[in-house]
Amino acid sequence: MKIYNTLSKKIEEFIPKDKNNVTIYTCGPTVYHYAHIGNLRTYIMEDILEKTLNFCGYKVKRVMNITDVGHLSSDGETGEDKMTIASKREHKSSLEIAKFYTEAFFKDLEKLNLKKPEIIAKATENIDIYIKMIEKLLENGYAYKSNGNIYFDTSKMDNYYELSGRNKDDLQIASRDDIEEDIYKKNPNDFGLWFTNSKFKNPELVWDSVFGKGYPGWHIECSGISIKYLGEYLDIHCGAEDAVFPHHTNEIAQSEAYLGHKWCNYWLHFSFLNLNNDKMSKSSGKFITINTLIEKGYNPLAYKYFILNGYYHKQLNFTYENLDIAQRSYNKLKNKITSLKENEIVNESAKEKYINKFKDFLNNDLNTANALSLIYDILKDEKINETTKLKTILKMDEVLGLSLGEKKETIINDEILNLIKKRDEYKSSKNYIKADEIREILLQKNIKLIDTKNGTTYEIIK
Ligand code: AMP
Ligand code: ZN
Repeated sequence: MKIYNTLSKKIEEFIPKDKNNVTIYTCGPTVYHYAHIGNLRTYIMEDILEKTLNFCGYKVKRVMNITDVGHLSSDGETGEDKMTIASKREHKSSLEIAKFYTEAFFKDLEKLNLKKPEIIAKATENIDIYIKMIEKLLENGYAYKSNGNIYFDTSKMDNYYELSGRNKDDLQIASRDDIEEDIYKKNPNDFGLWFTNSKFKNPELVWDSVFGKGYPGWHIECSGISIKYLGEYLDIHCGAEDAVFPHHTNEIAQSEAYLGHKWCNYWLHFSFLNLNNDKMSKSSGKFITINTLIEKGYNPLAYKYFILNGYYHKQLNFTYENLDIAQRSYNKLKNKITSLKENEIVNESAKEKYINKFKDFLNNDLNTANALSLIYDILKDEKINETTKLKTILKMDEVLGLSLGEKKETIINDEILNLIKKRDEYKSSKNYIKADEIREILLQKNIKLIDTKNGTTYEIIK
């Protein structure tokens, strides 16, 4: 497999440290709100990476963290803790918020046919490893105490700017928050490892440690969890493009200072999904979730199809017009595939030829757009029978996860029942425009509503 490595700024041949066993670390969600479809673009591509490696015979061990405390989620100790904001908004404790949105995140993964990573590790359940690392960094002189906090001394790392391609004269630009300069740091890019003297007045979650009661900095979470679950060497570390600096840069610095050797060989970064040509972001409040798409009558897999048609190194602008086009193509494609005959003799050599081509496309820096276009080539191929086409495409779908062979079947789940309830409410309040909109959405899903004296019932159109 060839992948673009942010570290070398080149497309490189991927060679795992341990023959056929691959370790992958993927930065997970901060669970103070629903994941948006931008976050999910990154998770879709990480799933494709994992499944491609599996498809090519590798054994993958993948870890994802869940950031379940707000003050861990940025360098900026300004503003209010994101978890606290959510607690106030929803009148729940931080841990209840985290639990709710973690579950919602897993449901989103399911809706997109994404495999849950083998190991999911919560930030709050791994404090022991952060403390162990920080103790060693203090001991070996890479960290220092200042004003009650512990900082990493970035001037001690010769390769500090290697990943981002910046230099030390560049001002620190944090990706997530406006940063108020912290005067207790020795160098502008130094970052907090442990805070006992926080600007947050009463942080809801603090832990005892040898350095005093407090909480860890944002970056130590991912280094700690990766080293704890995947060991001293990591093959691939992923995230979106905003993670390169400062997050991944700081992860490299503290991990290598702690381990005393190179830590991760391949760094993969996925480009943003934009909304109105600007990064879709949770903190701006302008974002779209999978549930919004479902409520509007879209299939989450049509969104996935839209993403896979793009190249991950290019930003994609989300519009409903683009999604409409994707949904129409996706439905047409699925209809073609599900109407293929299933009982002819499969031409195994033709199938293998196509599967190898499919692997070549994905092995070429995850070119999912070419992999998808191969499906159209297969459907057009007059030299092979329908069953060969079907079996080849379904094999490819093991990686793509687009449910291409699923016959149109209508499932009445909670979302459908909620839509029916919502439409009833609109009807009672005489909002017939909204009520009809929902009727139309359900009709597209093959569900016909029938109004009776005793309320609304439904019929599934065969
Ligand atoms: P967060 O929940 O903010 O910690 O983000 C989770 C993951 O989604 C991280 O890898 C981010 O870099 C990534 N991400 C955030 N915004 C976008 C976006 N607009 N498009 C693609 N990925 C994103
Ligand atoms: Zn991370």
